[in-house]
Amino acid sequence: MDTYDIAVVGGGPIGCFIAQQLASKGRQVAVLEEHKIIGEPIHCAGLVTKRVLDITKCSQDKIVQNTIYGAVIHSPDGSNLTIGGDKAHALVINRQKFDEHLAQKAETAGATILLNHKVITTKKQHPALTLDIQQNEQMTSIHCQLLIGADGAHSKIRDLYGFPKPIEMLHGISAELSDACLDPKYVHIFVGSTIAPGFFAWVIPTNHHGTNARIGLCIGKHHTHPLNHYFTTLLQQPLLQGTTIMKRFGGTIPLGPLKKTVNDRIMLVGDAAAQVKPTSGGGIYPGLLCATHCSMIAEDAFQKQRLDDEFLRRYHATWTKEIGRELTLGMRFRRIFNNLTDRQFNKYIEKLQKQKIIDIINTYGDIDYPSRLALPLLRTTPSLLSLAPALLKRVKQ
Ligand SMILES: Cc1cc2nc3c(=O)[nH]c(=O)nc-3n(C[C@H](O)[C@H](O)[C@H](O)COP(=O)(O)OP(=O)(O)OC[C@H]3O[C@@H](n4cnc5c(N)ncnc54)[C@H](O)[C@@H]3O)c2cc1C
Repeated sequence: MDTYDIAVVGGGPIGCFIAQQLASKGRQVAVLEEHKIIGEPIHCAGLVTKRVLDITKCSQDKIVQNTIYGAVIHSPDGSNLTIGGDKAHALVINRQKFDEHLAQKAETAGATILLNHKVITTKKQHPALTLDIQQNEQMTSIHCQLLIGADGAHSKIRDLYGFPKPIEMLHGISAELSDACLDPKYVHIFVGSTIAPGFFAWVIPTNHHGTNARIGLCIGKHHTHPLNHYFTTLLQQPLLQGTTIMKRFGGTIPLGPLKKTVNDRIMLVGDAAAQVKPTSGGGIYPGLLCATHCSMIAEDAFQKQRLDDEFLRRYHATWTKEIGRELTLGMRFRRIFNNLTDRQFNKYIEKLQKQKIIDIINTYGDIDYPSRLALPLLRTTPSLLSLAPALLKRVKQ
């Protein structure tokens, strides 16, 4: 039976990044990935900031498909608000190429990537852990000292060890389109109960000509129709007339970061720990940030031979210190957003239609840190609060 220092369950971006970090310190690392190909199937719109490339030290070549300068927000009543346009705010990446690149970096650093290896169960057998793995019809096992669960939204490791569950699971549907006619610099966001109740829909140009796009939407708990109905509504938008669907895919976004992310010899990271921005559903940047803490504490734990819960809790403390407040504020904002009616969306979006406010959004808007916009926005537009007493109450909570 093969023995590793660390077994990382999940060969997504977060698992591969951690594997690379730990293998480069000389640790014996195995990444167990249930699929036969890294990066498939895709469950991602691929909209990130440059910080993602900076953390992973990936060059833009082949990974970045387009640069986004602004957004057009569509109200339920059909009016819209354009923000940005001044500078590059986000990048559109090819998720499969990004994941492949991170997997290659992990292998180059010395990690072993085991594809078509689905972890079925794990057992703690002091001093090691045993993982039972399914490979085609056959069962195999490996041993490890430390287990890192980077196995995504439906994490098996989270369930096996009784970790808390994310507060919410959003279900989404997306597609790659061709034959579009878009301004390549702008993404489009649609809000309201007829198109994406409880979240939003998006149209993201994926090439510099605006002819290809990635579109999709997620819905919250309270919806009156199946997901496909909302997808059809999105496709009927005038913006998407004449386009051709090339590929469709689904996915789940876990929201509400876990209050506990370690246990004796176990750490959870990325979507498995719901380290996801509640306002946008973006999980790559916060997952990578938390992954840097995870790999640092794991390495320290090996050096000090302290793989116990008490020592590993430092990981929970450090990632929470770095990004916990932003994610908690995001959840609070999400609760407010969830309670808005279509009429309120129309009103608020109309309120934002002033050059002074748009300037504030352009200056402070940051998709990784949306809370940085809240204070300057409320200072210039206190009427945003007075519009809905419920909003005021919730912000004070
Ligand atoms: C519709 C949609 C759009 C999104 N758009 C964006 C976006 O624009 N920007 C952004 O930042 N984020 C976006 N996200 C979120 C982003 O995709 C995730 O946050 C990111 O993929 C998390 O990476 P991860 O490595 O933690 O998990 P994953 O990418 O889910 O990887 C987990 C891996 O674990 C494997 N696995 C699971 N169970 C097992 C098992 N038992 N044994 C072996 N392997 C296993 C899976 O096959 C998978 O490869 C989107 C998500 C969805 C659903």
